[in-house]
Amino acid sequence: MSVSIQDLTEGIRNIPDFPKPGIQFKDITPVLASPKLFQGAIDHLTAPFQPGDIDVVVGVDARGFIFAAAAALHLKAGFVPVRKQGKLPYDTHEESYDLEYGSNTLAIHTDAIAKGSRTLLVDDLLATGGTAVAALNLLSRLEVQLVEAAFLIELEFLKGRDLLGNTPTRSIITY
Ligand code: AMP
Repeated sequence: MSVSIQDLTEGIRNIPDFPKPGIQFKDITPVLASPKLFQGAIDHLTAPFQPGDIDVVVGVDARGFIFAAAAALHLKAGFVPVRKQGKLPYDTHEESYDLEYGSNTLAIHTDAIAKGSRTLLVDDLLATGGTAVAALNLLSRLEVQLVEAAFLIELEFLKGRDLLGNTPTRSIITY
């Protein structure tokens, strides 16, 4: 893989006190703006898998969409969005959760993924784990086969991974 974890780490910009005091915001836009780093991020996120291993990649509103959609194309899988409440037009399942800052409700279409589909959850960042748990709860309601939850960044000190229980969880960059 031509892009190292160190290259990716150097592409992430830390913004202190955004969106409120005490939050160290990990800005991934410099990674997206670099063709080399964006491709490298997708290569790392999909590394354990070959096309044919995964049926569906699920991405979480909004930054997760960027990585999950690119990962889905890379793996020749479908892409399914988990969206914020009120955005999906058809029947939905919903789950509420707390963020590192604020709270939110996530939704997925009730027919988004066929039961038993080999499913990869991709998001940009694992912080407290609330978002990921809500997304995983939505996926369990659809009775998918969850293969892995993969994150570009994990803030290990927030121990979000502990909330994910038995879910195979992998992150590329850790703080
Ligand atoms: P959490 O539910 O606490 O695991 O938060 C995860 C989501 O919130 C991720 O999808 C990120 O988009 C966003 N997020 C939380 N904390 C940060 C942070 N320090 N920097 C950038 N994004 C963050």
